[in-house]
This record gives sequence, structure tokens and C-alpha cells, in this order.
Amino acid sequence: MKFGHEFQEFLNREEYSESWRKAAVPYSQLKKCLKSIQRELRELGLDPETLHQLLATQTSSSEPFAKYKIEETTSLRPKLTVLVDIEDGVAVDASLSPASRAVLRSLAARRSSTGTAPPDSAIPARQTSDALPDQVPAAPRDSAALVKSSDRRLDRIEVPLSFDGEFFDLLRRDFDNMDELQKDQEGAMSNDIAALGGMLSELTKPSSLLSKSDLTRWREIFELYVDAQVFFATQERDHGARDSEKALERLVWFQNQIEKRGLRDKFKLPQSQEAYDKFLILNRDLVRYLKFQEYNRVAVQKILKKFDKRTALGVSRTFPKAIQARGIMTESMAKNVCAEMSQQLVSTVPRIDDYTCPVCLSLAWLPVRLKCRHVFCVRCVIKLQRERKRHCPLCREDVVMQADLDNLDHDLTKFLEKYFRKEAKEKQTANEIERGIELFGPNYKHNSCVLM
Ligand SMILES: [Zn+2]
Ligand SMILES: [Zn+2]
Repeated sequence: MKFGHEFQEFLNREEYSESWRKAAVPYSQLKKCLKSIQRELRELGLDPETLHQLLATQTSSSEPFAKYKIEETTSLRPKLTVLVDIEDGVAVDASLSPASRAVLRSLAARRSSTGTAPPDSAIPARQTSDALPDQVPAAPRDSAALVKSSDRRLDRIEVPLSFDGEFFDLLRRDFDNMDELQKDQEGAMSNDIAALGGMLSELTKPSSLLSKSDLTRWREIFELYVDAQVFFATQERDHGARDSEKALERLVWFQNQIEKRGLRDKFKLPQSQEAYDKFLILNRDLVRYLKFQEYNRVAVQKILKKFDKRTALGVSRTFPKAIQARGIMTESMAKNVCAEMSQQLVSTVPRIDDYTCPVCLSLAWLPVRLKCRHVFCVRCVIKLQRERKRHCPLCREDVVMQADLDNLDHDLTKFLEKYFRKEAKEKQTANEIERGIELFGPNYKHNSCVLM
């Protein structure tokens, strides 16, 4: 299937809204425009082969015989220039067809009779301001564009094309629309995230009544979500941003895990289900946007490739440079939205991984903060002291033996009690059992020995 059709079908199938469809790359319009450029060039005798030769050949002072530049000022201005011999008006050293020679000769002739042509001239051949290596100082008016090569006086003239300007303006306008769409989309998602964040902090507020909080359920959900690495991979092997297909695959994995564990049904508060569904919709929206962006990026690549194939002007390389860092070409939106999701949603629920003791790898309960500021559970510090290990296991500072009751971190204790009640209780019991076995031998029975 031709890409133009495929692209159209994609836009129809995914049921993107009107504003998205309007921002989509106007592929068929660009294709039409490209046909006009081709016709223009053909009329000037500049078929792809001739152009390729002119672009690839250089004078003895490394000046390419033809240049095609796209510059972005207030608008995009592409410019094709060709070096011609001032005497006979023929583009230098390229084996041109008689038609091309005739056209270039007449361009050069008009040019030399009018000097620098006014912008509204029928042939808008303009003096270029390129500073050339071998300037000829003798001819003041034309000096900037003169090149001396093997005793020939060469002049750079502009080939008057109009449809390429139209082509790149179309593309640029579309990039602007796409930027606008991205801004709107990002803003809307930001608002949704903020609203959901407010909801979540209510739903996960630590409460003495367990039935009043879904803290533990949400913790499990977000732990799974972080593991899923939906939009960005942190592992070495496939580090970085994911494409929409992979992102969708990871999102489906996440949803399956939630389903398997029945987490959505386990919520105690009905609003939690609503919040969870909103969270999923946010993620799906971002996947959808990524896919839209990918398709459009491919459309741009395809049309530029087509452009090059039909003109040899090398725009696949030069156009992205001229247009620079537009939204369509970057992953900035996925990055921003993901950062917001993790700051405002995932981190409303503290993760146990951030509060584990680096020695025993379970919750740092009761937390002892050594003089070096590193935190361990009280049990591990006692063991270190018993073994006369004086150095902090993390920074090797000689601080372990100085620790006493004053090193208990009371604020952190309160925090852990609030957010990790279940885990703290488990750890407490495990400590008591360990202590009991140390004192009374392996037959020690803890009075609430249900955990081990
Ligand atoms: Zn520990
Ligand atoms: Zn330390």
C-alpha cells in the first residue's frame, strides 16, 4: 500500500479528533507540490542527474558548482544557485543537456545585463552574499559572487524556483500546527494529572482506620507501574524512550498484572476505581499521541526522501537542520508528561524501596541515622556494633560505635509508622523473634508468632 493511503487510513482508523487531523502532515498536498517542483526543474533542464552532478562537483577552490540551501529567517527560504561562466553563461564543467545550457545561458545573460536584479524581477536571480575563497577584487559589484577557477571568471546565479518555497512553507506551517497541538495536549494532560494527584493524595492519606485508605493498594499498583517502565526503559539493554508499540505492550502488561492480582476490585474506596481508570486513560492518551507523532515523523521522512529522489537536492539532511528541534521531531512531550506523572502521582505514595535498610534490604525500622547521615535499621546497627565493625557500610566513615538511642530518627519513625504500618509491624515482629531466639535458643516461641 502506498504510504499516502496508509497514512490516511491510520488517521481514519484511530479516530483522531479534528484538531489532530488538521495538524497531521499534509502528505498528499506536499506530494502535489513536489510534482510542480519537478516540472519546474525539468523546464529548466535540471533533471535529478544533472543536478546531482552540479552539486557533487567542485571548483579548484572547493566551491560546489551548485548549492541548495534552506535558511530559516522569518520564513523558510530555499535557494538553488549555480556557478556559471561569465563569458559564455554555461554552468561550469557539468555535462549539461543543450536545454539546460540554454536556460542557464539566458539566466546568466539577463543577470549580467541587469546587475543585481530587483526582487520583483521576472527572473529573481539574486546576488549571493557567500564569501567565496577566491574572490576577484577587480569587479566591485559582482565581487562577492565571483570565483576564479582555471582562469575562468565564474558567477553564482540563482535558479528561479517557486514551488520549493511553497513546499517548505507548507511543511513549516504544519510543524507550527503540530507544536501548537503538542502544547495544547500537554497542557490538558497536565491539568488531568494535577486533578488526579489531588484525588490520589486523598485516597492514600494514611488513616488509623484501614478501611478509610487505599494506601497499600495504590502502593502495589505504582510499584507495578514503575516496574512496567511503560514509556522509558532504564535498563542498559534497551535504554531510553520507547516507541508507541512497545509502550502499549508494557501498558497492557501492567493492566494484566493489576487484573491478575484483582487490585482494582480490592479497593476499599469507590473513588479509587475511578482514579485508577483515569490513570489508565492518561497513559493510553499518551501512547496515542506518541503514535500520532511517529506516523507524522515517518510522513516527513518519506516526503523528504521522495523530494531527494526526484530532485537530488539533498533536503533529507538539510531541512531538519534548518527547522531544528520542533515538537514533531522530539520526545519532549513524553518526557514532560512522564515526569509529571511520576512527581504528582507515583510519588504521592511513598515507595518502600526508598526506605529500606541497605544492609538487610527490608524496611529500615526502627530507623537509626548515623553521624554520616546514612540510615539503617536498629537491628543492623546493633549487629554491627556487636561485631565491632566501626565503619558505615555505605561511606566507610568511622561512626558506627558512636551510635546510641539519640540516633533514632523520630521524624522518620513517625513517617514510616504512617505510611508503612503493615511493613513496620512485620519488621518489628521479626526483630522480636530474632532477639528471642538469641536469648532463649532456637525453640523460642514468640507470643504472636504467626509470621514466621
Ligand atoms: Zn537492616
Ligand atoms: Zn555513612
